[in-house]
Amino acid sequence: MKRYQLKIGGKSVDPASGDWFQTQNPFTGEAWAEIPRGTSADVDIAVNAAHDAFISGPWHEMTASQRGLLLHRLGDLIARDARKLAETEVRDNGKLIAEMQGQLNYLPQWFYYYGGLADKIHGATLPLDKKGYFCFTRHEPLGVVAAITPWNSPLMLLGWKVAPALAGGCTVVIKPSEFTSASTLELADLFDEAGFPPGVFNVVTGYGKDVGPALVEHPLVQKITFTGSDQTGRVINEQAARHLKHSSLELGGKSPNIVFESADLEQAVFGAISGIFAATGQTCIAGSRLLLQDSIYDEFVEKLLALAATARMGDPMDPDTQVGPVTTPPQYQKVLEYIDIAKQEGARLLLGGKPADRPECGSGGWFVEPTIFGDVDNSMRIAQEEVFGPVLSIIRFKDEADAVQIANDVRFGLAAAVWTSDMAQALRMTEKLRAGTVWVNTYRAVSFMAPFGGYKDSGLGRENGMDAIKEFLQTKSVWLNSGAVSGNPFVMR
Ligand code: NAD
Repeated sequence: MKRYQLKIGGKSVDPASGDWFQTQNPFTGEAWAEIPRGTSADVDIAVNAAHDAFISGPWHEMTASQRGLLLHRLGDLIARDARKLAETEVRDNGKLIAEMQGQLNYLPQWFYYYGGLADKIHGATLPLDKKGYFCFTRHEPLGVVAAITPWNSPLMLLGWKVAPALAGGCTVVIKPSEFTSASTLELADLFDEAGFPPGVFNVVTGYGKDVGPALVEHPLVQKITFTGSDQTGRVINEQAARHLKHSSLELGGKSPNIVFESADLEQAVFGAISGIFAATGQTCIAGSRLLLQDSIYDEFVEKLLALAATARMGDPMDPDTQVGPVTTPPQYQKVLEYIDIAKQEGARLLLGGKPADRPECGSGGWFVEPTIFGDVDNSMRIAQEEVFGPVLSIIRFKDEADAVQIANDVRFGLAAAVWTSDMAQALRMTEKLRAGTVWVNTYRAVSFMAPFGGYKDSGLGRENGMDAIKEFLQTKSVWLNSGAVSGNPFVMR
């Protein structure tokens, strides 16, 4: 079995605890690698290495253009190793090879985009109201960034954080999810190969409770960038606030996928399926609430069930598989519990609803059948709480006002989609929906260029696009006096 090491200060090292834990393949349920069990001792060494690299040495001395070049080189290396990294992720999180290969092929773009942006960040000269002064601003890196990532798309979500952080001149200590740490440790070797100085990118793996608080509360960490559940996000934000640290949070969702009667129904069925069943429903932007207008409800549900029933479950490494396993045993239990809750609440089970007990799902895999509930009321827990699994809730609405009211009546606001052929209606909806991303006649589109983040309980701050780099910078105003200091020194002017 492969045994990984931590990456600290440019070196691969054993954890201070001398302990490793096993990571399992969700398709087989079998352990396939050993991950270092990091603790606060490793966090302290890693943060100090990141701090040293930030305040002196080659990274500190580098121009922004040189930083950009390193990010470009890293992008090229990720492109070279995309297949290998994708396979590691599939072994660890059970997502389809087609999806992970797509993500890894796309990931270099984050490093090219922010590499290009690195030397285009600049301050401004200010048109002052005071004579004799010249004032300008500088945008300076915050310092050591703690990045904490979840298990569903480890490297893609890492890229969203690390590429802008490094472009801005920060250094990073990352803690990947204990369920999917291997690909982040493999990526760390590519940072060395690209020529990043030691200490710029450090990885401390381990359990959330062992590593997370030590990292968030470390006095030399200036900024926390987190993706994960809203429960953990709240804890982190409280700790960050107590220590007056910057933080940005990408949290959960309960996104509405809204189909109006004028929509192209075949397209909308496609969007509803990919909205919820892609990645076995384990995406923050999952379209887990399907809102259907009364007049098309029956026809739409019939088409939806016909397509959903054809889903091919099985080995995520097989390019023909359409639905893979749930990633972790606790998540598998949670999904099944929510299915029970929905039944108890009176939602009508239309499809699936149990563990997938089929030969193609292997003997030890954590599979749940694609599950669809009809006649869901938006006040039910199945409509309000994030399941993070292949479970769709269908809710009826009468008209546009009703759709807006239901769509916004959850505490989350990550994403929403509208299917309609009436562009005026589409525009009205994009204004009224309280979500960080709104799609019209599509679902799930994301890009390194488009800001991404949550309204309401779905998070704070933005990733991707020009906005993201500002999350890692602070502004300094510099004043130059061209005259003599004069007047009464005890009076402030
Ligand atoms: P999680 O909150 O359980 O864990 C996320 C990370 O936080 C892991 O690395 C974990 O070890 C760490 N952690 C746990 N306790 C901690 C603590 N006390 N202090 C610091 N770190 C701690 O989330 P998860 O189950 O890994 O991921 C699923 C969640 O992530 C879902 O809610 C999903 O919606 C969300 N998510 C959001 C986005 C987004 O961009 N908005 C993207 C993907 C996933």
